[in-house]
Amino acid sequence: MRIAVVGFGMGGSALAWRLGAGGHEVVVFEQAKTTGPVGAGILLQPNGQAVLGHFGMLDEVEAIGTPISGLDAKHRSGRRLTTLDYGVLSAGLHGIGVMRSELFALFEQRCADVGVEIRHDRRITSYRHVEGGVHPIADDGEEMEAFDLLVASDGSGSALRSHAVATNPSLRVETKEYEYGAMWMAAPYAGDPERLVQVVDRSGRLIGMLPVGGGRCSFFWGIRLEEQEVIKANGLESWQRSVAEFLPEAGELAASITSLDEATFSTYRTVRMLSAIDGRVVFVGDAAHATSPHLGQGLNLALVDAVVLAEELDRTIDDRANVHEALSAYEHRRGPTTRYYTQLTGFLTPFFQTSNVALRAMRDAALPVMPYVPGLRAHMVLTMSGLKRSWLFPARPSTGVRVDPPHWSVGRSLRAVRPPRRRG
Ligand SMILES: Cc1cc2nc3c(=O)[nH]c(=O)nc-3n(C[C@H](O)[C@H](O)[C@H](O)COP(=O)(O)OP(=O)(O)OC[C@H]3O[C@@H](n4cnc5c(N)ncnc54)[C@H](O)[C@@H]3O)c2cc1C
Repeated sequence: MRIAVVGFGMGGSALAWRLGAGGHEVVVFEQAKTTGPVGAGILLQPNGQAVLGHFGMLDEVEAIGTPISGLDAKHRSGRRLTTLDYGVLSAGLHGIGVMRSELFALFEQRCADVGVEIRHDRRITSYRHVEGGVHPIADDGEEMEAFDLLVASDGSGSALRSHAVATNPSLRVETKEYEYGAMWMAAPYAGDPERLVQVVDRSGRLIGMLPVGGGRCSFFWGIRLEEQEVIKANGLESWQRSVAEFLPEAGELAASITSLDEATFSTYRTVRMLSAIDGRVVFVGDAAHATSPHLGQGLNLALVDAVVLAEELDRTIDDRANVHEALSAYEHRRGPTTRYYTQLTGFLTPFFQTSNVALRAMRDAALPVMPYVPGLRAHMVLTMSGLKRSWLFPARPSTGVRVDPPHWSVGRSLRAVRPPRRRG
């Protein structure tokens, strides 16, 4: 098929490559003048790693990233909130901290290798269906040629999603904007190179430090939205002082930043499209199901979307299925998992970063004991790993790599996801 992919971000680049490698003719429309994702690092969870393994890229990604054995969340006072280790599920299971730019470069190279055409500086904001095809339309009104399929991978603020909802009354979207956001950047790091550390306080601020290898970390400063403008207005030194006051060990790290231009400012929102299909248009990644970054699942879910959609579209190549059947099958496979993760993050986000006394008290009381409730620790780690399929079912490989019949047992699921890795 001739497929238009709108958005050459993290998920769109992976999808474009996989579709191109699968024999489709792919044209990507990207609004930016040059490519490259913004932001610092990303945590690849076991579900995302399974996709990269399926793509034959995992060794390369392991080489540019660093293994993360688990998460330590604590209070600014030093009081522990929770500790989650991937090893609880399977010896050697781990996350991978990696720079976004380096991961993106791998996908970009692969897209070039399979002849994916990338048209930059093209902001696509609507589309028009015709018999047997769909035309992407740019914000200046220019109508592109017809494609068999349009994949909207234009991120959490998707203009195409707004167009779809405005023109198709049967499409419903649940959206929640948060009063919190983050600024994040890469910085030198001397802390534990294998642990993701998150530190909270009473004001709703959060510091996160994700090692990404090479003595660096991805540093998050989670704040209320209105503070972002105050930080920009007050300048670098004032911000560095705030970080040092919040967490003295992070002060040194903030001191290494030479300009606030090194930081990316982002807002949080939860988005869930109840159906991600509008005729020959399908929404994937953050455009269909954006989450706040606290569970570290956004890109991992987008990677799984990419492989599942490509698998279903592969079936159209020899005419065993038509595009509508392929899209329905895609939605059927992805719906439960993305519903679980958007609902759960929507529920948890107000607890992660909050200045509300009641929410904070619940968080501080519950988090330290939750891992000791029988069975709950494994479920928490399964969720963090991207291996939960829905609220009810404990685990099933959500890798997109089809496992038939479904294996419900945790151990078998994990072995299907990836073999244990020896660390030494
Ligand atoms: C602070 C922070 C930390 C995060 N940490 C993690 C993590 O550790 N692990 C994880 O899995 N996820 C994490 N995420 C989430 C992750 O970044 C996203 O889920 C992921 O990037 C989604 O990929 P995507 O391709 O759907 O969208 P994006 O990566 O946002 O890409 C969208 C692309 O579409 C382009 N575009 C937008 N509109 C148009 C248009 N109209 N026309 C043409 N092009 C357009 C944009 O320029 C961009 O290139 C984090 C997010 C934030 C904000």
